[in-house]
Amino acid sequence: MSTIRVAIDGPSGAGKSTLARAAAAGLGFLYVDTGAIYRTVGLYACESGIDPGAEAALSAALPGLRVELQYDEAGQQRMLLNGRDVSEAIRRPEISRCASVVSALPAVRGYLLETQRELARKNSVVMDGRDIGTVVLPDAEVKVFLTASAEVRARRRCRELEERGTPQPFEEVLRDIEARDWKDTHRAAAPLRQARDAVLLDTSTMSFSESRQALLRIIQERMGA
Ligand code: C5P
Repeated sequence: MSTIRVAIDGPSGAGKSTLARAAAAGLGFLYVDTGAIYRTVGLYACESGIDPGAEAALSAALPGLRVELQYDEAGQQRMLLNGRDVSEAIRRPEISRCASVVSALPAVRGYLLETQRELARKNSVVMDGRDIGTVVLPDAEVKVFLTASAEVRARRRCRELEERGTPQPFEEVLRDIEARDWKDTHRAAAPLRQARDAVLLDTSTMSFSESRQALLRIIQERMGA
């Protein structure tokens, strides 16, 4: 039986992971957070003292790297780096920056491509990232480009960081988001852009529950088409 693929792309802090997870739970599909995979490679570079932008050094290290996804009893995705659970460590702000740098390297993207495609061959998925609809799953049955203004995204990120006990000033968070937006959209390898056949969902003025309903409506319409 063939699987169904829902691809959700968009900039940092657009609420992709929370909304994609909710959609996956509603559909009974596997949720795949591909940002977490890039974050794991970013963490590796940081921890091992490799400059995250040094493609040759990182390329040489990739074959010795074990990046695995596991799902716990609650269905939450966990990231393992060489057997160690790094699911919390990869959320630190400095790792966000490292992830953004390593993810611009074609060698890293090429290395992680098959892992992502394999998951979608074996399971019906809701997969979120930056290039899912354009590169990873170009034939996905449903494609959504999820976005919100940079200010709204920064406000949401601030709230999240506060809840995690690692608050950061709004201006700093906004600057970070704008810098990552620029990097993600201007890199040569798989830049962030809306696929031609993706539906645009801008949640700037929507509550979480309105966004979730809007996303489910798009998915149902596309799957029924
Ligand atoms: O989505 P998240 O913020 O966790 O992603 C971390 C970083 O990984 C992003 O800044 C982005 O540069 C990169 N990324 C990517 N392609 C993906 C998912 C994430 O380049 N499919």
